[in-house]
Amino acid sequence: MLPVADALALILAQAAPLPPVTVTLAAAQGRILAADILAQDALPPFPASVKDGYAVVAADGPGDYPVVGAATAGRLPTFTVMPGTVAYITTGAPLPAGADAVVMVEETEPLAGDPQRVRIRARVQSRADVRPIGYDVAAGAMVLPAGTRLGPAEIGILATVGEVEVPVYPQPKVALLSTGDELVDPGQPLRPGQIRDSNRATLRAVVAAAGGEPVDLGIARDDQADLDARIRAGLSAADMLVTSGGVSMGELDYVKTLLETAGVVHFGRLRMKPGKPLTFATVAAGGRVRLAFGLPGNPVSSLVTFYLLGVPALRKLAGWPDPHLKRIRVFLAQPLPLDSYRPEYHRAILAWDAQADDGRGGLVAHSTGNQASSRLLSMRSANALLELPQGEGILPVGAAVSALLIGEL
Ligand code: AMP
Ligand code: MG
Repeated sequence: MLPVADALALILAQAAPLPPVTVTLAAAQGRILAADILAQDALPPFPASVKDGYAVVAADGPGDYPVVGAATAGRLPTFTVMPGTVAYITTGAPLPAGADAVVMVEETEPLAGDPQRVRIRARVQSRADVRPIGYDVAAGAMVLPAGTRLGPAEIGILATVGEVEVPVYPQPKVALLSTGDELVDPGQPLRPGQIRDSNRATLRAVVAAAGGEPVDLGIARDDQADLDARIRAGLSAADMLVTSGGVSMGELDYVKTLLETAGVVHFGRLRMKPGKPLTFATVAAGGRVRLAFGLPGNPVSSLVTFYLLGVPALRKLAGWPDPHLKRIRVFLAQPLPLDSYRPEYHRAILAWDAQADDGRGGLVAHSTGNQASSRLLSMRSANALLELPQGEGILPVGAAVSALLIGEL
């Protein structure tokens, strides 16, 4: 049985970023940039006022001055501020020729009965409250390196440098197949012996949340021909194929057998709880390597193994430079027993506690309760998988453990 860290390293070595595509800014959210972005021009492209106030010659100092014009945002002033004069100016407006500083309006006073003149009360240094050319972005500067994940700020940066079509890695297509004679679609009536298929709905949601594009392959019966047809369809339609069920010892192991004929099976069992039966294979199709995961059927096992191995694989295809789940240190809110045979991924809800870590404050992990691999409720609201080492005994309250983040804190 392979340790999870080794399995993950092996999978990531097989996963290569997909060929980049071009998308509009509106579709770029969450994508990874595939090329460096340089600023074509400077921002601001002209010396701009930081405040509403008066453009002045700094050396003139405080005093009463004639106002020779108004510089407002969006147009270049046509007048010059000679020594001994000032001009009204608004935030973001180009500084008129001759002026070298701005005095904010709060440091000035209108002169009663003389609207053409103003009293300047403050003495300012040359360049005060002026953003010089290129202050925010220098012309030619690299504003976003390849590999950057595009969130709101990055999309704003692309807009400000005028890049409206950007090279990004595509959203990986992930084909999802449930297997089992007992499964019915959630909208259908349940006959004796049947249960509803929850894995496809769960996996569709986690694939979408991770930035992939789910492709639905339906439910395959425990029948070689049905499985074969659907798995082949999935491998040609998607970058990643994810099946659930039909890989445990009691089953006929159809999935693994089929993947062995279609490509190369790299491993079939993992040293972890929940979910030790897990087949990972690579299959060449359409000139590219497709990744295939045969996940265990139990709802918790399939979701936990998908978080641990499927999400990083999906991120690697989507161009993430570091595709790993984030790992942090947390403190136990209750004692947790260790498993003497396998490392365990215990589902937990993390919350900040100012008293944790001897009053320094820290994230405390609250167990979701009964950790049976069939009990999907043990994943409800969980935002972390606690990495409990294989061992004897019980970890006490307050013990520090590492946790992998699977949701928002
Ligand atoms: P298997 O890996 O096919 O032996 O399935 C292990 C357990 O998971 C069995 O109890 C199955 O009924 C259950 N199971 C398998 N697939 C699904 C699914 N798509 N949704 C809900 N339960 C499932
Ligand atoms: Mg089954």
